[in-house]
Amino acid sequence: MIADLVLANAKAYYDKQIVDCAIAIENGEIFKIGKETQMPNADEKTDLKSLLLLPGMIDAHVHLRDENKAYKEDFYSGTAAAAAGGVTTVLDMPNNDPVTNTAAAILNRMRLAEKRVLVNIAFYSEFPENPDQIGEIAAQGAIGFKLFMANQIGGLNPNDDEALLEAFRKVAYTDLPIAVHAEDKTIIDTNTQTLKRAKRDDLKAFLQAHPAQAELKAIERVLRLSEEAKARLHVCHVTTRNSLDKITEAKQSGNKVTCEVTPHHLLLSKTDFERLGTMLAVMPPLRDSQNIEALLDGVSNGKVDTIGSDHAPHATNEKTAQSIWEVKVGFPGLETMFSLLLTLVSQRKLSIDVLVQSLAEKPAEIFRLKGRGHLKQGWKADLVAVDLKHKFKIDASKFHSKARFSPFDGQEVRGRPVKTFVSGQLIADDQEIFAKPGSGNIVRS
Ligand SMILES: [Zn+2]
Repeated sequence: MIADLVLANAKAYYDKQIVDCAIAIENGEIFKIGKETQMPNADEKTDLKSLLLLPGMIDAHVHLRDENKAYKEDFYSGTAAAAAGGVTTVLDMPNNDPVTNTAAAILNRMRLAEKRVLVNIAFYSEFPENPDQIGEIAAQGAIGFKLFMANQIGGLNPNDDEALLEAFRKVAYTDLPIAVHAEDKTIIDTNTQTLKRAKRDDLKAFLQAHPAQAELKAIERVLRLSEEAKARLHVCHVTTRNSLDKITEAKQSGNKVTCEVTPHHLLLSKTDFERLGTMLAVMPPLRDSQNIEALLDGVSNGKVDTIGSDHAPHATNEKTAQSIWEVKVGFPGLETMFSLLLTLVSQRKLSIDVLVQSLAEKPAEIFRLKGRGHLKQGWKADLVAVDLKHKFKIDASKFHSKARFSPFDGQEVRGRPVKTFVSGQLIADDQEIFAKPGSGNIVRS
């Protein structure tokens, strides 16, 4: 036979070890891993020159926008950012315009994305108004349901226990996970109103409106409801030691719960506000160094399951309003996440094993992405070749994302995704895009 591609001189992360090998790719899948002399002939051969070859990163927390929010990001620009950042599969969040919370809305996004994406994409749904529609949304291929507890997006009132329980039971029946943004709406609304009455509109007011207690309370509540409904719960962007302890405790008592942290909650604290201002407005907010330490420990000891970027692009002027209450929350993360984490690897704060687990293996397992998340024979050839020694400064003006700003702009990092392959096709090479729109696949549950 003649394979499509042979990747020679790789240091591949295979079976929890780094092995010198070559890899043959056929039909978008890994056909053979072995010595170069054992490889079949191939149409094409790429010398990886001893780059570290990892399974492609899977980012389960991405806001790709498009449709009526395409001025912030669209399927092409967002997946170009993913490809440049070493991410081969993104899970798209549903707080779009229109909101993704019907089978028709998901199908429409799939059809639009199909012609535009450079990497693989799967779609979350928000909860529909009528919980009886949960089954048809799942049947359309939604990868999970998303619940924003801080404000109502979609058809479900996050303060209504009974409605939540009914909806969770229907999701449990589909066996899809429920990803949750856990911040208590009542606490945030009450604080915000009090602060606004006191004419407060500064950054500190934003932090006061979003206390750690709001996160913990929402997590406790949603853990209780998901346990009762026997639903799978995935808590997004955990930010405190107490939240992580609560989730760990629930896991140990048999709850079906997993959780995520973001690079910004691992690397930035509220003291960075003075340097970076309203750019850092993000939900949940940045915390202090003790919590950061707990989150980093949590990633290393496996209490944290996944790392997601929470890539949340906005127009630049949306980040600099006079009043903090008008500033849009979040910032882009797809093009910085991997290098920031590789820097932690070079500082020996994270191991490669943990990196691959939390950015590939675990997201694939939680969201049941078949054939993805490992570098193995017979699995998808979604791969990223990494230069661990490459030092550079993050330059947001060069982002592929439409949002060309970052709290990490100008920061020196060590470790760079060099080549990104999706189904064996080279998509990005040294941050340049080498593939046509539509090269990525739509992934259905
Ligand atoms: Zn988000």
